[in-house]
Amino acid sequence: MRKFKTESKKLLDLMINSIYTNKEIFLRELISNASDAVDKLNFKSLTDDSIHVEQGDLAIRLAFDKDARTITVSDNGIGMTEAELEKNLGTIAHSGSEEFKEQNAESQGDAVDIIGQFGVGFYSAFMVASKVRVVSRAYGEDEAHVWESDGLEGYAIEPAERADHGTDVILTLRENVPGKDGEEGENYDRYLSEWGLKDLVKRYSNYVRYPIQMMVTKSREKPKPEDAGDDYKPEYESYEELETINSMTPIWKKRSGDVEQSDYNEFYKSTFHDFEDPARTISFHAEGTLEYDALLFIPGRAPFDLYSKDYEKGLALYSSNVMIMEKCADLLPDYYNFVRGVVDSADVSLNISRETLQHDRQLKAIARRVEKRVTSDLEDMRDNDREAYETFFENFGRGLKYGIYASYGMKAAELADLLLFWSAREQKMVTLAEYAKAMPEGQKAIYYAAGDSRERLAKMPVVTGVLSRGYDVLLLTQDVDEFTFQAMREYVARDMPKIYEDDAAREAAAKAVADGAEPELEDRHLELKNVATGDLDLATEDEKKQAEEATKEHGDLFAAMKEALGDKVEKVAVSSRLVGAEESPACITTEGPLSLEMEKVLQRGPEGDVEGMPKSQRVLELNAQHPVFEKLSAAQQDGDSEKVALYAGLLYDQALLVEGILPEDPVAFAQRVCELM
Ligand code: ADP
Repeated sequence: MRKFKTESKKLLDLMINSIYTNKEIFLRELISNASDAVDKLNFKSLTDDSIHVEQGDLAIRLAFDKDARTITVSDNGIGMTEAELEKNLGTIAHSGSEEFKEQNAESQGDAVDIIGQFGVGFYSAFMVASKVRVVSRAYGEDEAHVWESDGLEGYAIEPAERADHGTDVILTLRENVPGKDGEEGENYDRYLSEWGLKDLVKRYSNYVRYPIQMMVTKSREKPKPEDAGDDYKPEYESYEELETINSMTPIWKKRSGDVEQSDYNEFYKSTFHDFEDPARTISFHAEGTLEYDALLFIPGRAPFDLYSKDYEKGLALYSSNVMIMEKCADLLPDYYNFVRGVVDSADVSLNISRETLQHDRQLKAIARRVEKRVTSDLEDMRDNDREAYETFFENFGRGLKYGIYASYGMKAAELADLLLFWSAREQKMVTLAEYAKAMPEGQKAIYYAAGDSRERLAKMPVVTGVLSRGYDVLLLTQDVDEFTFQAMREYVARDMPKIYEDDAAREAAAKAVADGAEPELEDRHLELKNVATGDLDLATEDEKKQAEEATKEHGDLFAAMKEALGDKVEKVAVSSRLVGAEESPACITTEGPLSLEMEKVLQRGPEGDVEGMPKSQRVLELNAQHPVFEKLSAAQQDGDSEKVALYAGLLYDQALLVEGILPEDPVAFAQRVCELM
């Protein structure tokens, strides 16, 4: 027996026991080795006239024997000499493929792409096998040899028989391990079945380009005998037939023009277990230093577990048609976690661990491109198929918004234009760009209100106040919305008509346009403003003056009301938002970064610790033109402080009610109403 080198032994041990948690990939590894061996022979025949291969004969065969507990993977590829068996299989991590690539570096064109970076691929057989035999005959040699090992100490190589060039890898499977202590055992028997092997091939090697064939047992009806009577029952017999299990040509390698959408849909549904067609199919082929094919899908509906923590994002990663990873998370940013699909590149270095993949530069380059393609496809859908886009946004918009929030606004440039919000004026979903385009001259900010129902928001005095000034208000109803806006702080509207500082410049520009010049455009930075927080700066000079005078005039009243309300409010003031007798008598606004709505969202949040929660700084704003205000100041003048306190409490509570917040003391509120009556 020849001994494995010490480092090989260590590695073998390490690998069998730890690296691959996913034992079933052994078949994928052996099949890709077989496919490489066929590739090598194929390649040689292209460069060496003395070698003739019949393309149609190149194949990989699978067989199993239940009684002997063996699985055999055979190929009619290049095979190995005794020395190659020794070198390739005796030294772990010795990659013959790498060497082959180097040797043929000059002549190597597109004709070969060999999965050469596995290094430890073959040894994965020992994860499921207690013994491995490799019978091989190199192309052009008369002799065959067998390499045999239990994967522990060493291996033996002896002369053997093989009718033709190629290799058989024969695995003797380990005995099943029963599960114990609630842990799952190991069931190796499942590979000893037609179904088990077919399943593995379909899942991992479906797109290997050579046929993977297996003898399968089928059943057919026996011919009906001539003399069969009326009571004849059909009889069946089983027979064997060589079947090709893999589909060979991957759909993502085909040019999109050559594939029917219905084929993409079928592929999508069967591969990703969805019963609805995808909303969009994106197929592209990258060339240059890094070559790959990508086939991506945007699902037509959100999977039920999309927002649960069990949901796994990722694209299937293939190298030369062999699946390396079912869900490679690093290929997708979190906010595009809904995208499904496949990336196939012969250039990706195929390291076995996820940790190494994360740092792979090539993978990062692919991920960037994938992201760009998804973004531009979504933009295209937004601009050209609005209805579909709105459905998409209903399904996945939340994730996009969250992407901005979670990146502290760094992703805003990429994602902001994909967002849709409800416009109170247009009564439909609009983009921020559409909002900006529709702004009247002089509008400096994007106005929004946040709450949980559109209907309620639309009636809120702070909203109607802004609308009546001619400015649209976006009604935000998802809990993440306002946090997203705060992370963005502003929106940069592109190609807006230029605003001129002084009259001379404006006139000059108008004249230029009249003379046939294109109107000048500029990017405009628009602040995102909650209509219920801070100073909106909407009032005209007159209105401001009036409010100031009223505040001064009624200083005593406000002081008395503030005293009655205590900590509940920062202050009481005349509103410049609520103007006119037909508007509401009062509203609650906030100062500082936290709005009422955000406070509500935070209180609902998982922490639920209402005590320690940050509170918004509330302001009770009064409509100085409302009849109620007259009543209030009359009470103040009469020195009726009880009445002032009663009214203050009532106005505060009812303003909160309008915001959808229950009065802190509903009983007291009800009592106050009764008192009045
Ligand atoms: P890798 O495939 O990454 O090179 P493996 O450990 O899987 O590493 O295989 C080691 C080497 O053994 C291969 O590079 C190849 O030269 C040789 N080999 C494995 N399987 C076969 C086969 N079926 N036919 C010919 N050569 C093979």
